Amino acid sequence: MIEPRYARAESILKDTIALLLPPSRMALSESAKEVLYVNNGGGNMIPFDLTLTPYMKGPMDCAIGPEARKYSSVIFAGPARTGKTAANIMGSLAHIISRAPGDTLFVHMTQKKAQEWRKTELERLLRASPEVRAALSPRPRDNNVSEIILRNGTLIKIAHPSPAELASSTFKNVLMTDYDRMPADNGEGAVFDQAAKRTQTYGSSSLVLAESSPGFDITDPTFVPASPHEAPPVAGGILALYNQGDRRLYYWQCPDCGEWHSPTFADLLWDTEERDPAKASKTVELPCPHCGTVFQENQMIKGEPFKRYVNNRGIWVPEGCQLDQNGVMTGDRRESTIASFWQHGPSATFQTWRQLVFKYATAKKVSDETGDFEALRVTVNVDQGRPFTPPRSADRDPAGLAARREDIGVKVVPDWARFLLASIDVQGGKNRRWVVQVQAFGKGLRSAIIDRFEIVRSRRGREDDPKGFVRVHPGVYAEDWDLLIEKVMYKSYLIDDGSGRQMGIYRTSCDSNGEDGVTDQAYQFWRRLKKMGLHHKFFLVKGGARKGSPMVTKTFPDNTSRNDRKVKVSGDVPVYLLQSDKLKDIASASLNRLDVGPRHVSFPEWLPESFFSELMSEERDASGHWDKISPSASNEGFDLVAYNWAVLHMLKADKIVEWDSKLPAYMADFDSNAEVFKPTEGEEEVREIKPRRRRRRTT
Ligand SMILES: [Zn+2]
Repeated sequence: MIEPRYARAESILKDTIALLLPPSRMALSESAKEVLYVNNGGGNMIPFDLTLTPYMKGPMDCAIGPEARKYSSVIFAGPARTGKTAANIMGSLAHIISRAPGDTLFVHMTQKKAQEWRKTELERLLRASPEVRAALSPRPRDNNVSEIILRNGTLIKIAHPSPAELASSTFKNVLMTDYDRMPADNGEGAVFDQAAKRTQTYGSSSLVLAESSPGFDITDPTFVPASPHEAPPVAGGILALYNQGDRRLYYWQCPDCGEWHSPTFADLLWDTEERDPAKASKTVELPCPHCGTVFQENQMIKGEPFKRYVNNRGIWVPEGCQLDQNGVMTGDRRESTIASFWQHGPSATFQTWRQLVFKYATAKKVSDETGDFEALRVTVNVDQGRPFTPPRSADRDPAGLAARREDIGVKVVPDWARFLLASIDVQGGKNRRWVVQVQAFGKGLRSAIIDRFEIVRSRRGREDDPKGFVRVHPGVYAEDWDLLIEKVMYKSYLIDDGSGRQMGIYRTSCDSNGEDGVTDQAYQFWRRLKKMGLHHKFFLVKGGARKGSPMVTKTFPDNTSRNDRKVKVSGDVPVYLLQSDKLKDIASASLNRLDVGPRHVSFPEWLPESFFSELMSEERDASGHWDKISPSASNEGFDLVAYNWAVLHMLKADKIVEWDSKLPAYMADFDSNAEVFKPTEGEEEVREIKPRRRRRRTT
């Protein structure tokens, strides 16, 4: 049914009166007490209580209120569990909707996240706050997933950071949440700059607000900041914006000596000799850098727990200023039209010091033992509110790696191995070939490169000379792909324990990308494997997943041509999309480990020098992206190690802690390992793989 196009006169009058009223002049920290409702953690919406997060008064009042006109934008960097999104983003929205109407653009990290937020967080606020609810249009079509149009005509647009979403329209307010989970550059430059441009015509009455925990790594680990207020250099994101602003830190006053300081995670002390993270975290305390008095988080100070006591009396101090014992600020504040705030983990209301230390100590242990520093990066960013410095690979070089070659036999399975993975790269151009690498993995994912070879020669005979050399052409000939079955998937290696037994390759991964025709041939090959019941042994992979996406994502690209597509929406061939940068971080860390142990990689003596140049052919840039040192460098060796890490991740082998417990049969000791067999006298070394029975379609 079409809605009537003529509204009743009295309802028009009512809608217009709201437009004529002056917008509230109240500061946001005051207004929020009346209009903002927040999730109490259990899904219940309760009125906003500034006394829980007193440090939010500063940023809130620079966003909305009499103070706000001095600033073009407000930047808030800080850890999770500070209440920063509720106070800044939801607070601004509640105020704008109910008291200071103006078209508003809200930007979340992805379209999916934006819609999710719209349906949960925002919907709850719209229902819970009576003043907000009253401002909504009664027409259902004015309240959809990407737009809300208020009774007075104000537009609230819910967007994600694509250039198209951020182009052209004019808004009075722009709010950005989780800024560091957005791309540093969406193709048109920094998201912040594009979004801020939308408010230009509104001048000083506009609001541009971005908040996030830091997500970009430190680009120069040797950098020494001129003051604690300066954030280290990062490739983009919230701390880069923070540095452009007046750089405020939250200062606490020592209850003992009355001096001020702004504590970071680095100021916390705990028993680092204690190996158990849970026990270590119980010893955490904070010393005053001026008088040395040590405080515990919940130690009572004049009837209040320490953290609450100092948070309630804390003051945001811009760079260039200091506080005296009476809390009077002096000095020359850094000139900027951006009010920028950086909160650190120790003052976060909803996260204890004990949790901070426990998470750090746990992640540090994993990083030290395995070289996987992802969990460490997450806790530094999200819990401590600080940027992360990844371990550098500069301390290894091709010669150093090559010097690690040792006598571990020629193309044999080390006696400590549990399973074999093969990875394949497709090379195009004049020198077309497949490059194959086989890696043996043992307890703790200690590994050895046990084979490396190329498949160059096709079985297709030449017309003039059936025995002549014909080069493989992966983009054209299906029969060339079939060589992979015999030469890789069916291959097995002698176990170096004198028993005469052999071990087969458990899983094979292969690049699905290449010159023209390769992708199509790769898919066709997988379909033939499926007919043979061998497809479970073979993974097609593809690099280049977006930053922030999972390590490995199973996709079904739409690869059927229009003619033979029936009802299928997506394709039938699984292709695993790899977050190559993360996988290469892990591969690189494993190569950096010098002593034998978890994730250490051994190299046999027979590997050529060129192999080690391949391992060192890529460098990690400031934004965490791995790229070739020179365009002509060969990087197969490194790529193929990274593919195996993708497969280990798919098999969840990277999550195994207890290697002596019951593991899948392919990971068992040789005596009970499903991939180990003893060839009988005279038997061909190549054996048949048992095809997996295909499940019958039930639909
Ligand atoms: Zn003190």
